[in-house]
Amino acid sequence: MIKLRGHHLFCLLGYRGMGYSKEYAENMTAVHSALRQRPDTLIQIMKGPDYLCAKFPDDQPYHCEDQGIYVRDSEILKRLGLKFGDVLPWREVERRIRVGVVPSDIEVICETCSWRSYGYCEHGVERIIDAVGLREVEQE
Ligand code: SF4
Repeated sequence: MIKLRGHHLFCLLGYRGMGYSKEYAENMTAVHSALRQRPDTLIQIMKGPDYLCAKFPDDQPYHCEDQGIYVRDSEILKRLGLKFGDVLPWREVERRIRVGVVPSDIEVICETCSWRSYGYCEHGVERIIDAVGLREVEQE
């Protein structure tokens, strides 16, 4: 079971192998690959720092407990009809995104995120709506 906080459900959609450090990206790639290859993998919704935050590098400003990040988590969970502690397969997360999210939601919910301008996350939402799943991460 992979423990994830709300906003990371969206971040995984747009993930293309970039991250805050090599270790952070390797960990995220492992989670992303597991979900892409085995969509029946169970995830549990966490409140606060999760399995991805655990690899946030010590030498960068830690934002994982910022109030704005918690707000983003809550907005996304509300949109997906999920709450802390829920356990569900990744496949069901994708289904909920398909029926409750549109690409332009990223612009609003993730307004302050430094990764947003790449456009990868909107594209990731489009892929889920098109039912083609997560995009394979190209290794460097
Ligand atoms: S814009 Fe930022 S917070 Fe939003 S899904 Fe993308 S990476 Fe995650």
